[in-house]
Amino acid sequence: MKKFIFVTGGVVSSLGKGIASASIGSIIEGSGLDVNFIKLDPYLNMDPGTMNPFEHGEVYVTDDGNETDLDLGHYERYVNVRMSKKNNMTSGKIFNNVLKKERKGGYLGQTVQIIPHLTDEIQASVQAVEGDVVIVEIGGTVGDIESLPFLEAIRQMRLKLGVDNTFFIHLTLVPYIASSQEIKTKPTQHSVKELRSIGIQPDMIICRCTHALSESQKDKIALFTNVSKQHILSLKDVNCVYKVPNLLLDQSINQLIFNHFNISEKVIDLSSWQEYIDRFESPKHNLKIGIVGKYSSYVDAYKSLAEALQHASVQNETKLDIIYIDSEQSEADLKTSFKTVNGLIIPGGFGERGIEGKIQAIRIARENNIPILGICLGMQLMVIEFLRNVSLLKDANSTEFNKKTNHPVIATIDEWASADQKVQFEKVFDGKMQLGLAEISLEQDSKVYDIYESNTIHERHRHRYGFNPNYFDIIEEGGLKPVGYNPNLKSLVEVVEHTSHPWFIGCQFHPEFLSTPRQPHPLFNNLIKHLIKHL
Ligand code: GLN
Repeated sequence: MKKFIFVTGGVVSSLGKGIASASIGSIIEGSGLDVNFIKLDPYLNMDPGTMNPFEHGEVYVTDDGNETDLDLGHYERYVNVRMSKKNNMTSGKIFNNVLKKERKGGYLGQTVQIIPHLTDEIQASVQAVEGDVVIVEIGGTVGDIESLPFLEAIRQMRLKLGVDNTFFIHLTLVPYIASSQEIKTKPTQHSVKELRSIGIQPDMIICRCTHALSESQKDKIALFTNVSKQHILSLKDVNCVYKVPNLLLDQSINQLIFNHFNISEKVIDLSSWQEYIDRFESPKHNLKIGIVGKYSSYVDAYKSLAEALQHASVQNETKLDIIYIDSEQSEADLKTSFKTVNGLIIPGGFGERGIEGKIQAIRIARENNIPILGICLGMQLMVIEFLRNVSLLKDANSTEFNKKTNHPVIATIDEWASADQKVQFEKVFDGKMQLGLAEISLEQDSKVYDIYESNTIHERHRHRYGFNPNYFDIIEEGGLKPVGYNPNLKSLVEVVEHTSHPWFIGCQFHPEFLSTPRQPHPLFNNLIKHLIKHL
């Protein structure tokens, strides 16, 4: 029978429930069982696609083109399972499903209510995820009004499926009070009290802390929460999140969970994580890479990108510092910031803010041979910069920023495609956006072909605009060459590269979504290798 592990969070948000869930997933995968995940998000948006990444964190895109919570990125980085639409549910989607059913007469004669209709719908979504063990992460913090239907649904799941098939983990914060030099268990006691008041008795408590819990502190938590002492684990702050699987394994989390589920003991192989950690701990080189973005202070907005850069760096025994550079600076200030970095990334993004600064940054990188990777919007801006400053089409722009430009070099298909092309494009763009995994053909005579060592690759997308084919010839004459295309639609450019710059590549897709610590992405890997070579 399928087993479910429910992960809730208490005391404060941003405790790392996603990392903890993913790490437990990786341990279960390491035992040879099939593991899977579902993230339940309490907000009312149908998905985070329209939410501000600078408040909520990045929008993560799955193979099947779903815009999802960034925790799905953690899951994919820790286990070898690809996420899909099924793996993220929001309150908005749950309500929408229930209301659609109600309109279709699905509940004739009944009063449609949070319990049982909404809670049944939540349980059906959780049950729809396949695997021997499904980890269910509940967003938000216990005590929030929004997450109540999710908590009620998982409470009912224990009742229906039995203790043997359900395991409740509560992740809390155990703060350290510097002035009295002691750690405090009271918030954890209160958080568990809150959870128990809605009928959920946790089976395990994982305490986020700066100092591992002493035996007496564990005794105290055990006494007040009714959780046996061995089931109280410490999760100390670490300098690398990929240490968490081993940290939990060291406290025998596998045995505790498998005993509870009556699953026989299994040998867990986490050596691949240890190899990663070993390389991480003894770097031979140091690099600095600048990510040029708008108001870049909220780093979760570029989560997968930062991860992908780190994976490639660790692979190449390099300690990488990522510097977030605000694009809204003068040219002189940008130049000064660039003196301290080895390479630059222009990340994806939406909207006009900070655009001119990014274009300026690309120009500086192009003219000064600074290695640079442009991703999605970054690639589009590389094209604009080139056409403005090399091909001298001064008002070249994207119609995303100026609808009336004389040179719409980046535009939506409606703005330039013929009727025939539009039919083809509509298949790819599903009306308005290209989302998810798609095949790409690379030209043999190109740097990216050498990097990928293949002429067919697959990458994930999330964009509305693209490079207008009317400008292909003119840009190529200047030396920025389109070298990757959609195989069914050659006018949809996927990669451009500068023919005489040491490392100047722009891609319309998001390579960062396919990088994992144990399998770094070739583009980032090559960039890091190039930077090391030129240290
Ligand atoms: N705003 C651009 C577009 O819609 C780029 C999107 C992105 O960088 N993800 O095409």
